[in-house]
Amino acid sequence: MSAKLLKGKKVAERLKPDIKLRAAAVSENRGSPPLLAVIAVGKDAASQTYLRAKLQVCEEVSVEATVESLPETASESEVLALLRKLASDPTVDGILLEQPLPPRLDARRVVEAICPDKDVEGVTTANFGRFYAAKTLADMRASGALIPCTADSILQLLLETGADVAGLDAVVVGRSNIVGRPTAHLLSCLNATVTLCHSRTHDLAGHVRRADIVAAAVGEPRLIQGDWIKPGAIVLDAGIHGSGKEMHGDVDFEAASRAAAFITPVPGGVGPLTVVCLLDHVVFSAERRTRQSLGA
Ligand code: NDP
Repeated sequence: MSAKLLKGKKVAERLKPDIKLRAAAVSENRGSPPLLAVIAVGKDAASQTYLRAKLQVCEEVSVEATVESLPETASESEVLALLRKLASDPTVDGILLEQPLPPRLDARRVVEAICPDKDVEGVTTANFGRFYAAKTLADMRASGALIPCTADSILQLLLETGADVAGLDAVVVGRSNIVGRPTAHLLSCLNATVTLCHSRTHDLAGHVRRADIVAAAVGEPRLIQGDWIKPGAIVLDAGIHGSGKEMHGDVDFEAASRAAAFITPVPGGVGPLTVVCLLDHVVFSAERRTRQSLGA
């Protein structure tokens, strides 16, 4: 293997102390720690595992968390009523709606009911408006837009390489609202030349072969093959499939790491840093709300 590993787990450990310090400063200024309210509808096994991991990180960085569990049979109006309650609760800084929602619920309508000021995952249209209006990362920060968490994790790992991204060819595979599309926008904010591929793309391999940066958010195990990777490319893989030793990403890691200069491992790459990005957003929201309430 020749590629350098972009270890999200290691970056996450580096970032936690600073998030914890900021959370402590919020507590000192207003007398209560940042508070994340989680809504879980039903009992999706994978999302319960991720939820435990998120709650563990909350504890590590001194962010309080509450979990509102609704049964699988909860109606849309019950979920919307809970979201309204959390929106008007002055102690809540961030709202996390665990996905997937039961298919009976209209996911888009429910997501849109998250209070935009507490949308720490960055998934409401109000946040997307600010996010996509930004032309640079500095604009994004100035507008208060939050980067959808998985795309934020991909960005942080790309920045770890120290590469000058301007003018590089970037290919993003996958165009979901939470991963692929925001990653493409972030790359364009860094002045990469971006191609956004999807299930109707002709000659996916040809696009990937030209890419200096490949970001995979497809949801198909090892779809991106090693011999598609340009020598020296940066490979960022959001995919998560399987568990334990049988865990894979959307990229064929073994083969791709022989050609790439940098690659994210699965597990231990994008995933663990995504949770820390979420907690960073909760503290950011708490800081903003504290400033507003103190009239600063
Ligand atoms: P979605 O299913 O919402 O989107 C998948 C995208 O991939 C779609 O745009 C789809 O195209 C495209 N696609 C599917 N098959 C192909 C193909 N054969 N060739 C080219 N494009 C294809 O997935 P998500 O964005 O939610 O998730 C993507 C991956 O990231 C998954 O593996 C998921 O597990 C992982 N993930 C990881 C997270 C983390 O924190 N690490 C968090 C969230 C997701 P089209 O639009 O045409 O249908």
